[in-house]
Amino acid sequence: MDTIMIDSMDGPLYCPFCAALLVDEGFQDPCPHTLFMCVEEGGIEYCSPEIDAEELEEKIDSDGMDRATDDINIKKAIKFALYEGAPSSMAVYVGIKTDDLPIKKVKKSKKK
Ligand SMILES: [Zn+2]
Repeated sequence: MDTIMIDSMDGPLYCPFCAALLVDEGFQDPCPHTLFMCVEEGGIEYCSPEIDAEELEEKIDSDGMDRATDDINIKKAIKFALYEGAPSSMAVYVGIKTDDLPIKKVKKSKKK
């Protein structure tokens, strides 16, 4: 899963597809695109039915949360990683799926 890194744990983070506010000094309600919401050392806050929460939890225990959420294999999904900044290891991870959107192809911008 590709990751977009954000240098603030408090957000605000909006869903890029429906503009729902997902993180604003804490988790807000998940939108229909939300796959997971979790916080380092706090566990899984939200997990969509597409993800096996038990399996994810086991993987977090063995590989760490950053790696475990990276390894979730859902096509056309992206992960937002909100880091508190070094040396803190605090982080919030939010997964967003895009595959229910009828994206045909990405148009590349032409620079002049
Ligand atoms: Zn959304």
